[in-house]
Parts: sequence; structure tokens; C-alpha cells
Amino acid sequence: MKIVWFCIPAHGHTNPTLGLVREMTGAGHEVYYFSFEQFREKIENTGARFISCDGYDFEMEDKENADRVGKDMAFATELLVSSTLALDEMVAQKVSEIKPDLIVSDSIAYWGKLTAMKYNIPYVSSTTTFAFNNASSRYMKHGIGELFKMIFSMPKINKQIKRLNDKGYPVKSIMEIVQNDNETNTVVYTSKQFQPCADTFSDKYRFIGPQIRPVESPMKKTAEKTVYISMGTVVKNRELYKNCVEALKDTDYQVIISMGETDCDFGSLPDNIKVYDRVDQMAVLSIADVFITHCGMNSASEGLYFEVPLILCPQTPEQGAVAMRTEELGAGISIKSGTAEEIRNAVNTVLSDPKYKKAAVKISESFKGSGGAAEAREFMESIVK
Ligand code: UDP
Repeated sequence: MKIVWFCIPAHGHTNPTLGLVREMTGAGHEVYYFSFEQFREKIENTGARFISCDGYDFEMEDKENADRVGKDMAFATELLVSSTLALDEMVAQKVSEIKPDLIVSDSIAYWGKLTAMKYNIPYVSSTTTFAFNNASSRYMKHGIGELFKMIFSMPKINKQIKRLNDKGYPVKSIMEIVQNDNETNTVVYTSKQFQPCADTFSDKYRFIGPQIRPVESPMKKTAEKTVYISMGTVVKNRELYKNCVEALKDTDYQVIISMGETDCDFGSLPDNIKVYDRVDQMAVLSIADVFITHCGMNSASEGLYFEVPLILCPQTPEQGAVAMRTEELGAGISIKSGTAEEIRNAVNTVLSDPKYKKAAVKISESFKGSGGAAEAREFMESIVK
């Protein structure tokens, strides 16, 4: 079959799809992956054909905007609807050339769902966060109801709906786009055990487990205990990195920090602390004993997959949900104030009490026991038949 796949320009939303796309191309399906130059290589490596969405007045490319999207749902909705319109003509032309049997789209790449509606093509949502419905959204500080109230209060959004209708998208309300109901085919990259309120979702939801990449550049373990610190590829929190360094500089731990694009001058660092712009996270996690994380869904899942307990430092409501679930299952400790002292105590507690590791092992087992890319492939094939 021919699959058109859409994603937003974010590593956290792209990475989990790669194993699945490889599974699809490996089974002889053609995948046309609409994304952004920055991700071309990763995507082409899966055997998919890359189609560039760059240069279409697409505001998500702006880093500042991308950062705000994670924190401000109303802003995200406005931005993503207008992005759909920016891509409209190009997508229309490609869809008429490719004639896809299936559209797969990231749950917040709304233009994918809208394209499926416009051309009446079967649709699968690729959900790289937890799946959220009325039950599971309790895990977010701002519940879904609150978010929708905010969206409806935006007169601009109604104007956007009208603009979508004028371009042939048969959408009645913003709810249809931003929310997946129990009728929406949905692939979620976690296990049923880790997903909050998993039994409230229909069997159209497939919890396939996180997609773990192979280790490419092994990292040497240089101490008995290794602490890994990363706030992901979007969040910037200089203060937190600084406090982590302060907390761990006088310890025997091997400390590995991935800074992403956060610029931060630590002055001179002791030998036990090494700072990188980017690391092979699979390599680092395979030697880590504790992971200080912003609780991006991927990072948290990858850590737990490698049986590493987490120190939880969420920065957005969605990351808050990951933190709450991890803590509820006993595999991590939440950081409240983020002071050096609090971080040091949390690291020492997690390293000295085996119950955290044990809980992480249990979650890891649930990930390894999930159906993985093969289950998602069979699911997609069954939809098109
Ligand atoms: N990542 C990586 N190396 C790094 C930092 C991050 O490979 O040095 C990857 C990480 O493995 C994960 C993704 O980038 O797959 C980050 O996604 P996540 O959902 O954790 O957070 P986001 O960056 O979207 O906030």
C-alpha cells in the first residue's frame, strides 16, 4: 500500500516513528514522509521517500514558536491550523499524484488529519505522548476541558475554521481536529501498563511500546554510578542544568550532560562531569544508573526501557503527566523547587533504595512485552484491506 505520513518538526515526534516506518517499507509498503529538511536523513534512512515541507510560510519551523506550542495549547491550535493552510496546495498536488491508501499523521500535525478528512482517506494517528481522553487528561495539570474552554474563547479560531471550510476541509469544530475519540485509529508508543487509564480506550488504540534505536556510539562507564542529565531537544532551562552541576560536582558519580541548544557557561568543570551538545542517548542510558529528565515522553520511556529510574523535572503539562505516572508507578522522584540540594538528595535516594530500580524494571518489562512495530504494521494493513 501507499502511505502518506505527516509529522511536526520535532525530534521527539519523529524518532518514535522511524522504527515503524522501517517496518512498513521493509514489508514492501511505500511511505511518503512529509517533514522538514532537518529530518531528511533520518527519514530517508528508513527507506521512506522524503517530501519537504520547508519554505511554505510554516510557522512551526520557528524554534520560539515550537517551544511555545508545548506550553500553550490555544497558541498551538491557531498556529497549526494556519500551517495547514500554508501547506494546502502542495499537499493537494502530492496527494493527487501519490493516491495514498492510508494517511498516518502525528497527533498534533493537524494538517494530516485534515487532509485525510478532505480526501476521505483512511487515517491513523501517531501519538508520541500518552493518549489523552477525559480520564487520562486528569494527569495533566490543565485538564483537557480547561484547554478546550481556552480554545473556544478564541475568536480567531472560529475564523480559522471558516478558512479551512473555504478550502474544502469538512471540519465543524476544532474539537474534531485536536481530539482523537474512541473511533480514531491510534498508535501509541507506550505500553498499556504505562499509559494512564489504558482500559478507557477502545481497541482502535494500539499501545505498541516505545521504539528504541540501536546504540551507535558506545559510551564508556568510568565510575560505579553514572548520572545522565538531559532536558530534551526543545526545553531550555539553564538554571536546572546549573543546579545539577552544583549538586553533583563533589561526588564520585560519572555525570553526563546533554545540553541541546541551551547555552550555559559552567566555568571550569571537575573531571567527573562531561557536557555534550548531543549524545547517543541509547548508549548513555545503557550505562546510566539514574536519569535526570524533563520527562519528554521519549526520554522518559527510553530511560525506563533501559531500567533506569528517573528524577522528574517536567516543564509542560504533558511532561507533568509523564512525571506523575512514573512517580505513581514508583520509578522516579519528582523535583519541586529544583535546588542543588533537592537534586542531590533525590539522586542519592534513588541510588540507595532499590525499590526505584525494581519499579523501572517492571515498566521496562511491559515495554518489551508490547507488540512493537510489527503490531502497528498489522493494524495498518488491517485498516486498508
Ligand atoms: N536525544 C538524543 N540525544 C540527546 C538528547 C535527546 O538522541 O542528546 C533524543 C532522545 O533520545 C529522544 C528525543 O531526542 O528520542 C527527545 O524527545 P523527548 O520526547 O524526550 O523530548 P523533546 O526533545 O521532544 O522535548
